[in-house]
Amino acid sequence: MVLSKNDKQRLDCFLTKIQKDSDGFLGYPSAKDFDFSIFNDYFHFPFNNIGDPFNDGSFKVTSKEFEREVLQEMATLLRAPEDDWWGYVTNGGTEGNLYGLYLARELHPNAIVYFSQASHYSVTKNLHFLNMRHIMIREQENGEMDYDDLAETLNIHRDVPAIIFANIGTTMTEAKDDIERIQSILDDFAIVNRYIHCDAALSGIIAPFLTPRPAFDFADGADSVAISGHKFIGSPIPCGIVLAKKHSVDRIAQSIAYIGTLDTTVSGSRNGLTPLFLWYALRHFGTDGMRVRVNESLAVAAYAADRLNDIGIAAWRNENAITVVFPSPGPAIREKWQLATNGDQSHIVAIPGIENSDIDQFVNDMKAELEN
Ligand SMILES: *Cc1c(COP(=O)(O)O)cnc(C)c1O
Repeated sequence: MVLSKNDKQRLDCFLTKIQKDSDGFLGYPSAKDFDFSIFNDYFHFPFNNIGDPFNDGSFKVTSKEFEREVLQEMATLLRAPEDDWWGYVTNGGTEGNLYGLYLARELHPNAIVYFSQASHYSVTKNLHFLNMRHIMIREQENGEMDYDDLAETLNIHRDVPAIIFANIGTTMTEAKDDIERIQSILDDFAIVNRYIHCDAALSGIIAPFLTPRPAFDFADGADSVAISGHKFIGSPIPCGIVLAKKHSVDRIAQSIAYIGTLDTTVSGSRNGLTPLFLWYALRHFGTDGMRVRVNESLAVAAYAADRLNDIGIAAWRNENAITVVFPSPGPAIREKWQLATNGDQSHIVAIPGIENSDIDQFVNDMKAELEN
């Protein structure tokens, strides 16, 4: 496989551009401090983790043994019931959420899905795919679900099974819905047919290391949890993890002769490299290293909020969030720093790879804008 001189030159320019774009963003939660060059030789193989990760199947060019270790590690972190969990490495948080909602619908076909206004944009699309009845719940000022609105809404639909789509770290403000509180509301209305899915795209790998530990995992009452792998952990290819209770999954599994394994996953052919990246990252950091990683990000976030406050900008963040929210600056700064903006709010995310020196440069730009 060879390229013409022109095409080669074009790629060289593109590499320079992408390096600059990657160095310069502050607004998106994609860690940029990884190095997976140990896997360079692995690009020669047609990896495909097709089908169920716990079932080796007839195709052998897979990394399923590593995928299973990643899932085991995550199951432990998310306090999944021993011997009653299942999951797989997805293409990202959206696929994990689709899987969680699909499972919930198969278990409770007539349920209503309750999700907050602050949910990720993909949720309405997923609900549309699955044709599920749903009601949007108001959000509080900080992005967390408005529990009073949830209670009022559930009160009207007490006779209908409830599927709660909880946000563990909303996209805009990293607010975390409290699933303990949500369960006590469901208890109040004696709604026993229920299912809780946690969209923990960003915070699922952060929350286990926080004090106080947010109520979000299996021990807290979740039935399934979806996490993105390319956000806080970091990966050159988008990926994620979804975990659910095994006895629920078993009710919908189907055996497929062509691949000699179970067709339990949303995607058929699946990425074989991303489980290796996740495995490597989890081994590299270990639990202690991951805790350090979380604390470092929290410190950069605190620094960013303080520096912005120092120059008179009303920046704030939710408790133990690495996302710092502030009134949107002008288009030049938003463009330069690739800020995510929603209405009159923008944010930066102190994701691994972003340091205080990056924050200083950004704050200088913000200060210059104020002075103009
Ligand atoms: C990023 C994000 C998603 C989607 O995850 P992808 O990995 O981009 O598919 C879903 N929900 C929340 C809250 C997110 O932040």
